[in-house]
Amino acid sequence: MWNPKSIGRRFKNGYMLTEEQKVRRTKTRLDNITNGPNWKGGRIVSDTYVKIWTGTKYVPEHRLLVEKQIGRKLKPSEPVHHINGNTKDNELKNLVLLKHPMAHIRYHRGTIKKGDILWDTTCR
Ligand SMILES: [Zn+2]
Repeated sequence: MWNPKSIGRRFKNGYMLTEEQKVRRTKTRLDNITNGPNWKGGRIVSDTYVKIWTGTKYVPEHRLLVEKQIGRKLKPSEPVHHINGNTKDNELKNLVLLKHPMAHIRYHRGTIKKGDILWDTTCR
């Protein structure tokens, strides 16, 4: 049943925020991150990846590093594989840029084909 009281409560808890309120909320959260004692210049370690703050959003560090190596932006379809399986180990020699998601799957299966690897440190 529709109940104005529960709507009000949900609103207070943040389940029904307007777009403007959401933006303000996100900004406050980000301000807390960037001004807080744990701020390390825009580098955070999530559960899976190291991420870098670009001024507007967080991007995975390993993708930025490969972009720097090849001198262009990566396409979203181009996976970067961590050779030793540690997705937080962003040593260049641990990274391989693959041509497409299928190439990544083949890499994991050990059935890589010619042309699947777009870049790794042996390419330099
Ligand atoms: Zn992989």
